Amino acid sequence: MVFDYYFRLSRRQQQIYRQSDRVESIHLPRPELLRSPTNGLTTSLRQANRRTTQDHCDRIVNHINRQLSAPSARVTVLARRPSHHWGELHGLYEPAQQSQRAHITVWMRTAKRRQVVAFRTFLRTLLHELCHHLDYEYYKFHDSLHTEGFYRRESSLFVALTEDRSHPEQQSLQL
Ligand SMILES: [Zn+2]
Repeated sequence: MVFDYYFRLSRRQQQIYRQSDRVESIHLPRPELLRSPTNGLTTSLRQANRRTTQDHCDRIVNHINRQLSAPSARVTVLARRPSHHWGELHGLYEPAQQSQRAHITVWMRTAKRRQVVAFRTFLRTLLHELCHHLDYEYYKFHDSLHTEGFYRRESSLFVALTEDRSHPEQQSLQL
């Protein structure tokens, strides 16, 4: 199964699409090291604290890149999502350029009601942008496409960060 836009891609891009679609999960050697910044993120969002949210996002992204031996990426957390007729921008990934490191931007408040984004949505956005980074820098794909494989990789990271394996009887995050 491929998404409809597959048929509008060039042959070269279809090849990248199929490569991307084949990788279904990202294995983190030490997911438990992500527990502390992930828990910290729930608190900092609840407190609507942009500074600490930024710190936790930095730690999450750095940990994952380091565990995978992927190049680092800069993370910026901004306040209110930009919006336009097409909707609201949740996150943005800018690939590395010459001497500039790759850059992930995420916004912590909705455009319309200026509410702080819910933890799960926010973390998913961060991991989504990080998956674009990993497509280029870890898997070395020539483009980063939204394939089913891409969304499965995003989900595999989300599960690794939010599932508490040390206390399987409890749910670690109730948000
Ligand atoms: Zn995307």
